[in-house]
Amino acid sequence: MRLLVTGGAGYVGSVVAAQLVEAGHEVTVLDDLSTGHADAVPDGARFVRADLAEAHDALDGQDAVLHFAAKSLVGESVEKPELYWRHNLGGTLALLEAMHGKGVRRIVFSSTAATYGEPISPQILESDPPRPTNPYGETKLAVDMALTAFAGLRGLGAVSLRYFNVAGAYGRFRERHAIETHLIPNVLKVATGEREEVQVFGTDYPTPDGTCVRDYVHVADLARAHLLALGAVTEGEHKIYNLGSGTGFSVKEVVDVCREVTGHPIPEKVGPRRTGDPAVLVASSDKIQAELGWKAERTALPTIVADAWAALSGK
Ligand code: UDP
Repeated sequence: MRLLVTGGAGYVGSVVAAQLVEAGHEVTVLDDLSTGHADAVPDGARFVRADLAEAHDALDGQDAVLHFAAKSLVGESVEKPELYWRHNLGGTLALLEAMHGKGVRRIVFSSTAATYGEPISPQILESDPPRPTNPYGETKLAVDMALTAFAGLRGLGAVSLRYFNVAGAYGRFRERHAIETHLIPNVLKVATGEREEVQVFGTDYPTPDGTCVRDYVHVADLARAHLLALGAVTEGEHKIYNLGSGTGFSVKEVVDVCREVTGHPIPEKVGPRRTGDPAVLVASSDKIQAELGWKAERTALPTIVADAWAALSGK
């Protein structure tokens, strides 16, 4: 197929673009490089440096769009809500309008567990109420709502994939954010000497060791789900699936595994809770397993961390 990958110079987008190229698709990456990296665009993909409002020409002749381009920092979204609404909702609406104009009727969208907010069940289901607690989650949910509306009114075929905690690397393709907020890359930066210690945000949560529990899903597994989703896009329908491993690990468990993998003592410092962090976030991915046959395979935390470490350290 001929595919446009927006945000394909970012972490998840670059891994999906690489897997699409490997699968024999004709891939164009559209990215404004505001947070992505030109050298993350995989060999074999065409690269267009442009933002979503300029996607028009790149849509010519495409069979489908995989849409990753977005602002994705929760804290920044609270400080600059206008920026998030403009980029994430405004940018996507411009893209959808351009798709409509060019007759491109299929999209796979990078959504997030942040659309749910505080969980009401031990394993979050797609049918749980979406109640985001920050502008990042709100804007992603707004896009999901637009996709549902356009599926009904325009015959668009859409699949939204709601990611839990994406981690690990796919070969050389790894997480590289100028402002790094995520746990695993921050812990590994202590092992490379880039940081002195890891901050543990709160040890008084109602969890077995008092630190937050998250569902870490390997980026290679996550990317594979996008290829399955592409095959499942049905015009006139909007399908939503969670993507997680179904198992939770605490912050302390993550830090311990990073110590084992890197052989570095990784000093830690306990700090206060980070605002807006729920105690436990674990996905049920039963729906995508039942409907598309997807299941996370690289679920062992040492595997996830070892892949991230190998890509970061070159070991
Ligand atoms: N966390 C931490 N120290 C850090 C970064 C994150 O203790 O330097 C915690 C954070 O409070 C959360 C978990 O690690 O409980 C995962 O955070 P991350 O930002 O990686 O993902 P999120 O679950 O917020 O999407």
